[in-house]
Amino acid sequence: MFETTIAGSLPKPAWLAETQKLWPAWKVSGAELERAKRDATLLWLKEQEDAGLDIVTDGEQSRQHFVHGFLEFVEGIDFSRKVKMGIRNNRYEAMVPVVTGPLRLKGRVHQIEASFSRKHTQKRLKITLPGPMTIVDTIADEHYGDKVKLAMAFAELLNQEARALEKDGVDVIQFDEPAFNVYMDDVKRWGIDALDRAAQGLKCTTVVHICYGYGIQANIEWKKTLGSEWRQYQEIFPALAKSKIQQISLECIHSRVPVELLKLLKGKDVLVGVIDVASDKVETPREVADVIGRALQFVPKRHLFPCTNCGMAPMDRDIAVAKLKALVEGARLAEKKLRIENQGRTTISTRRTQKRGSTRTSSRAGRSRPR
Ligand code: ZN
Repeated sequence: MFETTIAGSLPKPAWLAETQKLWPAWKVSGAELERAKRDATLLWLKEQEDAGLDIVTDGEQSRQHFVHGFLEFVEGIDFSRKVKMGIRNNRYEAMVPVVTGPLRLKGRVHQIEASFSRKHTQKRLKITLPGPMTIVDTIADEHYGDKVKLAMAFAELLNQEARALEKDGVDVIQFDEPAFNVYMDDVKRWGIDALDRAAQGLKCTTVVHICYGYGIQANIEWKKTLGSEWRQYQEIFPALAKSKIQQISLECIHSRVPVELLKLLKGKDVLVGVIDVASDKVETPREVADVIGRALQFVPKRHLFPCTNCGMAPMDRDIAVAKLKALVEGARLAEKKLRIENQGRTTISTRRTQKRGSTRTSSRAGRSRPR
């Protein structure tokens, strides 16, 4: 059976935050906000379970943004002074906080939502963290003056939180590194080292998610400039295959990534994106099963996990629910197809064996004939 999961984030309900935004403002505050975050987490755990997902997440309901949700808990960052910065190689502009001193965790980052989720689901639980390279690309720096030093400082903090999450009972820790598809040379020079540092000593399952970004307009426009074949993965996969990270989460459906690139990840689990988060059109189980079928040519079945292309945070809530169902139904259909194919193969090979068997019998009979 294929085990299904999602990249991580899910839409926030309208009573928690602004909808269909990447940096949504909270609708309530104080104790009411904490309660609303928990309620939303519970809602999405149930939706994921009802859809039939095997590895569930907290839907990132307790953080405003996948990077800044972590940074808010780090000392040495000035959030009162945000500056406009071009991020992902100037693909789009964001208001980012500034590193002004040595970095240190103020305390636990995701303990509340991780422990709460753990208490409310029997399924395997995944919690996501931003990767060091993506953090460095989403923050201004006035203190370290060196990207690699800054990344390693963040990697240490991420590791501290990841180890604590493992103790909270989290089964899977994922680092989100969309920047890996942008700065491919830096990935090989220091990005993977920083990632391995963040995951150091973890005994739970570790994942890195590398996509072509959320389904926002800036990313859709950027993808149009990438040509007929997207080969960013080709540059980084060989190095990534040597990293300590066990699973790689990728964008696949409706992308122009040549599927044969997946063979460069030999030995790793591959979370294949079979759900497009940049389109409101809900995939049919058949479409999902077709993508799984194509990936199976290059990834062994036991290493293949059907997943979403990216997080679903900026999507419509009902569409996201429908897409969760499509993901699981597609995976089940792919299994059915495999069973039928295998049965077909078994029948043919049984026939062959019987045929060979009968030949052997006759030759043995021939040998045993008195000379
Ligand atoms: Zn993503």
